[in-house]
Formats: sequence, C-alpha cells, structure tokens
Amino acid sequence: MEPKSILLEMRDYIAEMGAETLDWCMQCGLCTNLCPWRLVPGETGDAFNVRLMQRLGQVGIEGFEEERVLFACSTCGTCQHNCPRGVKIIDNVRAMRASIVGGGMPPAGLRPVLGSAHSNGNPWSGPREKRIQWQEGLNIPAFGPDTEYFLFVCCHSCYDPRSMKIARAVAQLLTKGGVSFGVIGAEESCCGESMRKLGDEELFQKLAGANLELFASRGVRRIITTSPHCRWSFMNDYKDLGADWEVFHYTEILSDLVKTGKLSFTAGRDGRKVAFHDPCYLGRHGGIYDAPRELLAVLYGKPPGELSRNREQSVCCAGGGGRIWAEVPTGERFGELRIMDAVATGANVLATSCPYCVNMMTDACNSLEKQDVLEIKELSELLLEGL
Ligand code: SF4
Ligand code: SF4
Repeated sequence: MEPKSILLEMRDYIAEMGAETLDWCMQCGLCTNLCPWRLVPGETGDAFNVRLMQRLGQVGIEGFEEERVLFACSTCGTCQHNCPRGVKIIDNVRAMRASIVGGGMPPAGLRPVLGSAHSNGNPWSGPREKRIQWQEGLNIPAFGPDTEYFLFVCCHSCYDPRSMKIARAVAQLLTKGGVSFGVIGAEESCCGESMRKLGDEELFQKLAGANLELFASRGVRRIITTSPHCRWSFMNDYKDLGADWEVFHYTEILSDLVKTGKLSFTAGRDGRKVAFHDPCYLGRHGGIYDAPRELLAVLYGKPPGELSRNREQSVCCAGGGGRIWAEVPTGERFGELRIMDAVATGANVLATSCPYCVNMMTDACNSLEKQDVLEIKELSELLLEGL
C-alpha cells in the first residue's frame, strides 16, 4: 500500500474556503449512512463516503480530491440536516471542490458549463439575448420603479424548451392573480448557486457581483423566483454579500393569492391521482412544505398523495450541487427511486416544484420506461391547466 501524503497547506486552504466546521466532525458516520448514495448500486455509490472525505480533509491527507467522489454530492442536505454536531457538511464539500476548481482543474465534463457561465452569464451555452425567449407571445411586463416584485427566472427555464413551460406558467399565474411583477431580462446573470456548489468561487463572485449591481440599479426590493435554488442563493449567498431584499418562491406567492381569494382553480376537474415530491432546496433547505401541498389541495379538492419518504425525509432527485450536468448510468440515478416511490402510490402524475427535479425525474421516468403510467409535472403547469 502506497503511503499517503499529508498536505497541511491543503487543510488550511479548505478551511479558508469555507470548511469552518470541518473540525466539529466526530466521525460518527451518520452522514454516510443517510446519504442517498447508499440507496443506489454502482461504482460511485461504493466509492462515495462523505464521512471519510471529511476525515481526509481534517488531517490534510490526499484522497478526498478524487474527482468521481468529490463531485458526487448533490448537496441534498440530508446528512447536514441530521448531523449531531451541526457540521456544515455542504460547505465542507464546496470548499474541498474549490481546492480543485480554484486551481483551474474542474472535471472535463464541467468545463463547458463553467465556461458558458463565464462568457454568457448562464451555464446552458445560450446567448444572452435568448434569455428572454421563454416570454414569446406573453407580453411580460418589464420591472420598473413602480413594480412590486422582480421575477427572476432560473437559467434552466430560460434556455431549456421543456423548462420554459415553467417560466411561462408562473408568469401567467402571477398575471392572473393581479401581482405587480416584472422582469429585467437579457442583462440578468445566473444566480450562480450551482457554480458556487461546484467550488468555482471566483465565477460565483463574478455572477453575484453583476446581479447585485444590476438589481440595485433597478431598485429591486422583493424577488420571486421560479426555482428554489435561486431563492436559496439570493436568501443566503447574496445576503452574505450585503443584499437587502425579500425573496419568495412562486408557490409562496400563489398560496397567499389563493388564501386571499385573488386566484382560484377548477377543483377536482379530472380523475388524475397526483403525488408530490419535495425538492431538497424548497423543503429541507428552504423550509417550504405546505405551500405546494395547499395549492394542490385547492386544485384537486383533496390533499396530494404522499410518497413514502416525504417532507424532511424526501429523497433527492440528484440535480443539485452541479449534478444536473453529470452523466449517471441507468440504475444509479436517485430520480429512479422517486419514480418507484410514486408508482407504488398508484399516482398518475408526480408533481414537484423545481426545474431541476422536473428534468431529473423525467429522465428517470423514461429510463425506467414508466412514462406510460406516470407523468412528471411542475406544479405551475398543473395550476395553469386548472385556471
Ligand atoms: S454526521 Fe456529522 S459528526 Fe457524524 S461523521 Fe458526519 S459530519 Fe461528522
Ligand atoms: S448533501 Fe446529500 S448527497 Fe451530499 S453527502 Fe450529504 S446526503 Fe450525500
């Protein structure tokens, strides 16, 4: 067995990059045992051990930087939510990634993603001017001095044709509810949440700096996001940079509109059986569990079906932490677990409220050939159909 090198500079570097709680870890192993990688077979699942990664980081021993392991975490938060020592495990993972990405050595598959975010302000290789293509035919208002809310559309829903339906649905629902909202458009940049989780701190600072300057120049005070990832970043990463604003996921706004009678739906209009999947960044990270369920209950006249692992115990779709760009073999995808959970409830529709979840679970549904029995829908799409 080859002796391992001890790199004390590396240990100090990851502490500086945000792994401030690394030394709180007492190596109990609960994080590793709760991780969704324990639920799927395969080489990555066999190799990925977040307790061990943190131990290697604590003592500065090489090994945690192995690409397949270091970039496997989807930042779902299950481990962190349950850690008895309150270790900020995701910050630790992010800091370890920064030691590689910050040195100019991101994994090959991520280089086009990070490069596009640098040059185009979005990770999807789309030109800036096409950021507004989702608005075609909708007459979306521009954000101005008298507008109450700035609607920030996730890059995924600006450039991916499937995901654009989410942006279009949210905007139409807000319009129907009489909300004063507007968009800025092509000048916006990606919120940078995934880039930061991938360890590209310099890129995150560039994107966040551009957005902070732009939003301040337009007088943005209240933001509605289509994605829980953008909401989380604006509420946490950007607050640390001095942002002073209120941030809402669209489900919070729509739920209030329904409660105040400003928005209503045709309840129970079809016989579909709908179950709900809690996105990690809306639920565990964002604390929002009830708003989407309340909306589904109003829409269908009864509460949605529940998956066996729900709310705080929800299993990740695997789209967070930059994993949306990972190539994962069929049989090893977390999303497949959710499809089987949904099929077990007898649901015809699996609803969720995150563009990444829609993407990952649609892929999983297709790879399991369950698309004839289960449809994946974003909540906004169902609500729009129910107007
Ligand atoms: S659960 Fe917390 S204390 Fe236990 S090994 Fe994981 S990080 Fe360390
Ligand atoms: S955040 Fe989720 S994927 Fe990452 S180590 Fe923790 S449990 Fe595993």
